[in-house]
Amino acid sequence: MASPMESKSSPLCPLFLWRACNDILPTKNNLYKRKVVIDQLCPICNSEVESVGHALWRCVSAQAVWCCCEGPIQKSSVAAEEFIDIFDALCDRLEDTELEGFVSIAHKLWTRRNKVVFGGTVLPHTVLIKQALELVEDFRKTHLGTAELGQGELISYGRWHRPALNSIKINWDAALDGRKKLMGVGIIARDCQGEVKAAMCDVIPYIRDPIIAEAIAARFAVLFGRNLGFESIDLEGDAREIILALENTEDADSIHGFQGRCWNLCLLGESPT
Ligand SMILES: [Zn+2]
Repeated sequence: MASPMESKSSPLCPLFLWRACNDILPTKNNLYKRKVVIDQLCPICNSEVESVGHALWRCVSAQAVWCCCEGPIQKSSVAAEEFIDIFDALCDRLEDTELEGFVSIAHKLWTRRNKVVFGGTVLPHTVLIKQALELVEDFRKTHLGTAELGQGELISYGRWHRPALNSIKINWDAALDGRKKLMGVGIIARDCQGEVKAAMCDVIPYIRDPIIAEAIAARFAVLFGRNLGFESIDLEGDAREIILALENTEDADSIHGFQGRCWNLCLLGESPT
């Protein structure tokens, strides 16, 4: 099964996708389980339990948007309950750009759902789709174009590799909202069977540089593994510049050395030079 941390999609909204696939978006169902609200009904259709799969795919309001999309997304009929299963099914059917479009539209659907709940202007279906697909196009022009020119490659579509027996693989990823100067970090720890042993996400303010965001996320990953007491950890990130910088030292196998180098990268990035 594809994982949001390792799939061919999506460089766009990785933290949102990670939260959706791990069923930790604050839907009515999840809030009900935590005893925050007293009912599980979808705030839009008021007819079904609002799970992530319902909010982003099965709800009549979501389906109204998906039906307005052109191409294979419009024709995709996925009956799965969980969002991760819906996403997994679409991974097999859609090309990379179409899958990125799906994630971007799903993100817009979640934003629209929050505006319905908390108040705000709700976009018409066609405008929502247009804005979501323009984000994908802009992202590809800016980031993938830059990587092709060799001016910095922060995106990787590499597959997850199993750690050695009795080791824990910790993957990290960072997302940056340059306009709001916010970074998101997502970290997941899995054993050699691929079973999730722990996961976390966080939002950190006042970060503007994608390299610094990835370096901070790498340091978080090290601390996460150490604080959970894993004896043998295998770290894997997708920010090539950070990985190359961290590997280029004599103590590359030392966790403490690795953590120190992550921190040094953060400090270097914060200097005026
Ligand atoms: Zn609904």
